[in-house]
Amino acid sequence: MGNIVANHSAFPEERGTHQVKVTGIKNLGSTCYMNTLIQSLFVTPVFRIKINECQNVDESIASDLQDIFIRLEQGVHSVEPYRLARSLDQMHWAVNRQQDIEEFFHMVINAIDDKEIRKVYEMGIVNSLSCTGCKHKMIKETANLDISLTLKASPNEYFKHLEEALRHFVKNETMQGDDKPFCGSCKTKQVMIRKTSFSTLPPVLVIHLNRFTHDSWKHENMKLEQPLLIPETLTFKKESEVYVPVCNSSEEFDEVWDPYTTESSEASHWIHSAEPSSIPVDCVHYELFSISVHAGNLDCGHYYAFIKHHKDRQWYICDDTSIRKTHWNYIQEKLRMNDLRWLDAHSVTGRSQSYSRDHSWSQSWSHRQVRTSGRSTAILLMYEVMQ
Ligand SMILES: [Zn+2]
Repeated sequence: MGNIVANHSAFPEERGTHQVKVTGIKNLGSTCYMNTLIQSLFVTPVFRIKINECQNVDESIASDLQDIFIRLEQGVHSVEPYRLARSLDQMHWAVNRQQDIEEFFHMVINAIDDKEIRKVYEMGIVNSLSCTGCKHKMIKETANLDISLTLKASPNEYFKHLEEALRHFVKNETMQGDDKPFCGSCKTKQVMIRKTSFSTLPPVLVIHLNRFTHDSWKHENMKLEQPLLIPETLTFKKESEVYVPVCNSSEEFDEVWDPYTTESSEASHWIHSAEPSSIPVDCVHYELFSISVHAGNLDCGHYYAFIKHHKDRQWYICDDTSIRKTHWNYIQEKLRMNDLRWLDAHSVTGRSQSYSRDHSWSQSWSHRQVRTSGRSTAILLMYEVMQ
């Protein structure tokens, strides 16, 4: 799709040269999800260090990524990720089908199978259930590569800000009525308080926005296109051995949100902190550096990324072979308009396209330019810890 961009630049005034050379990646037929993730991993310094440290990785995903990263660094031509595509194909991953980027992220990290790589992303999530009858507490801790946030506040309400969705994630929930769990201690179903918290936080926090859901009334899968404001920074505070999200956007919040004021302070596990000076020392700060965007709908879609390069701290749009400089203000404006599209037409491939294993990768090009129905919405976010 390089030829479209040549006469369709969103930022014609910025066509000049710049010191950092960001290189595009060729689409091998519906592999935009792969290109989008590769660009995000490439601008994650800690990931790049760890992947380069992986030893004895011949013919593995780790070595394919090492190879792609070298070529992205050289930045002469757009990179053709055939080797990685072939490895994925050998692992029976349907490379040329539109894939879910979060699933692909999990697949890649699991396939690399390296403890140090997992540590870049892994966070400890503690789920506890407390019986209101006998006070017995059941605790389960899991190591997650990302958090998948629901965007629904209630059946008909949606979160407007990422911090609201995060707050909901750690909110205490009373399980009663039909939802009452069985208490092993009381030997009966009891009203219980369910609580989720972070026991540890990772160097790179990956947040998946759960936009693909099932509508049980219509009996169909659907994409949620509700707007969601995404902050450039996130803060977590350590409180009683767990990390809780600190709300930095309380002003915007108050307009859209008030149900929590009716809850007890214990139930609302959230700290309002409008003034930076009130943020305690024992905090972890994160800075956004990657937004993976999904354009289109369930059947016909396209992925691309907004990334902030670690060298020049400049935002770029990475859309297969098309690379454009952009600004955080531009992204924010797009988020407010609830449409992150930067081109009128995207190169997309429908679900009907099939790839034959006998064909060579270069023959599997079958793009078409279409005006995608549906909005371009953020789907996977990456934040890196600020030192
Ligand atoms: Zn009990």
